[in-house]
Amino acid sequence: MSCGEHHDVDCSEILQRVYVFIDNELEDASTDEIRQHLEECAPCLDQYDLERSVKKLVGRCCGDEHAPDSLRAKILLRLTELRVEITTTD
Ligand SMILES: [Zn+2]
Repeated sequence: MSCGEHHDVDCSEILQRVYVFIDNELEDASTDEIRQHLEECAPCLDQYDLERSVKKLVGRCCGDEHAPDSLRAKILLRLTELRVEITTTD
């Protein structure tokens, strides 16, 4: 995935680490790198928002953050569908 702009760090690399970033399990240096990238890159920020929404929903449903991958995937899929509906009806 690419937003067509040049960044110090590749978008795909950021997106791979954004899950860990949300969990606050990254070292400080990496956190800064990701935060800076998200400020510059709207597509990655979008993806980050989506991931955060999923995490929030999963946490609400299951009471903890260790939901099964299947549930997580289902929610992510649903959110993606919603997003598509929103953008196509606009
Ligand atoms: Zn990016």
